Order: sequence, then C-alpha cells, then structure tokens
Amino acid sequence: MKTMTCHQLGGPCDLTLHGQSADEVIKAQDRHLRDMVAEGDDAHVPAREEMKGRWKHPIAGMGWYRDVKRTFAALPEE
Ligand SMILES: [Zn+2]
Repeated sequence: MKTMTCHQLGGPCDLTLHGQSADEVIKAQDRHLRDMVAEGDDAHVPAREEMKGRWKHPIAGMGWYRDVKRTFAALPEE
C-alpha cells in the first residue's frame, strides 16, 4: 500500500489517497475530484477537467500517467 496526495496528482488539496498500484490511486483521485466538484468545490474543477481530458485523449495524457507511475514506484511501501 502506498500513499499519494491530491496535490501530487494535479489537484489543489493535500488529501491523501491510498492504493496498491498507481492505477488504484488514480482511480481514487478521479473519484475524489468527482465528489468535490459534485459538492460545489470550485478549486477542484480544473483538475477534474484535466482528468476527464486524459480519458478522452489517452495519448496526450500518457506523459502525466507515466509521471504518476514513476512517482508511485519511488514511494516507500507502507
Ligand atoms: Zn483534492
């Protein structure tokens, strides 16, 4: 299990997200962004739009995805 923050994934806050893999953490962040925006939090709107854009344009989002995976791989196991 490893931990990344909303901030490390391109978001505006320091909420911690946990997962066994980078994909799990990205999914948790996607859910977090969706929840925050649904609650009317404007600060998370740009990150939410970026995340949506990555699913729509996987090639363009690949660099970000690789960065997240690299960061995740370098984190200590908890
Ligand atoms: Zn956040």
